[in-house]
Amino acid sequence: MHIIDSPKVYLVAKTTLTPNGLDQYLQDIGNPNWRPDPDVSDTENLIEAAGRMCYRSWESYDPDKPDATNPNVSRVRNGNEGYLGNILASAHGSVLEHASATFILRGVSRVLTHELVRHRAGMAYSQESLRYVRLDKLGVWLPKPVRENQDARETFRTVVTYLEKVQRDLADLFDIDHIKSFKTKKKLTSMFRRLAPIGLGTTIMVTGNLRAWRHIIAMRTSPAAEEEIRGVVGQIATICKQEFPNAFQDMIQDPETEAWIFEHQKV
Ligand SMILES: Cc1cc2nc3c(=O)[nH]c(=O)nc-3n(C[C@H](O)[C@H](O)[C@H](O)COP(=O)(O)OP(=O)(O)OC[C@H]3O[C@@H](n4cnc5c(N)ncnc54)[C@H](O)[C@@H]3O)c2cc1C
Repeated sequence: MHIIDSPKVYLVAKTTLTPNGLDQYLQDIGNPNWRPDPDVSDTENLIEAAGRMCYRSWESYDPDKPDATNPNVSRVRNGNEGYLGNILASAHGSVLEHASATFILRGVSRVLTHELVRHRAGMAYSQESLRYVRLDKLGVWLPKPVRENQDARETFRTVVTYLEKVQRDLADLFDIDHIKSFKTKKKLTSMFRRLAPIGLGTTIMVTGNLRAWRHIIAMRTSPAAEEEIRGVVGQIATICKQEFPNAFQDMIQDPETEAWIFEHQKV
């Protein structure tokens, strides 16, 4: 068995624009005075474009550009930060759903993945299959009360070492290495995993739209959430804040609790 020092978070994908398509659309509606800001992420430019499309507010009203402008709009808000700030303040959250970010979480427990997959709206998951992947080495991450207590650490070590041996014993018992049929091996592997601990380190790929990530970050970094998921989602929050500062401009980390909260919740 091995101890996982810290579960790892990797940002592996995020929404990008298809410039030709967006340019063509802007030309077709009369070539308004708006272009994606090259200093802003594609992800956030797309959210702004979605909002401007909704209100036909690419620029202030121009009777020569009836498809790009709106007679109700005499002045438009310029700049991605201000535009997204207004979207967030007015809770026009659906436009955030066009943009997504994908993470791989490595060395997270099945406790964490079971909690995470409860978030359904706007989320997609692919989890390491323990029907296909046979366990031979077990890794676990130790929560703080275990890290701080030598007897508890010893208990974890003894039990997980034993369960690792159980995996190997079952493999020997069923002589799985000499079985040719993958179907049979899968059936057996699937059975073996029942005797693995739920603290077992595993890997999950998770994609969420930015509206969903904002919700998950607020819920899962709250002091009420479990230590492991708080730490992992906290890492996701830090990455989102760096990558998409305008879309997360109203989220801040409370220095006291380390929870990520919406600025308007600050007391
Ligand atoms: C601290 C903590 C303790 C928890 N304890 C428990 C527990 O003891 N037992 C347990 O079973 N779960 C528990 N949970 C899980 C929790 O109940 C939710 O299932 C989980 O957090 C997913 O969040 P969500 O419901 O906001 O779903 P998401 O899929 O993240 O949805 C986001 C939002 O979309 C809306 N939405 C989504 N689906 C629907 C729908 N079908 N109908 C209407 N609106 C919808 C809701 O407004 C929801 O808040 C806990 C969660 C936390 C953070």
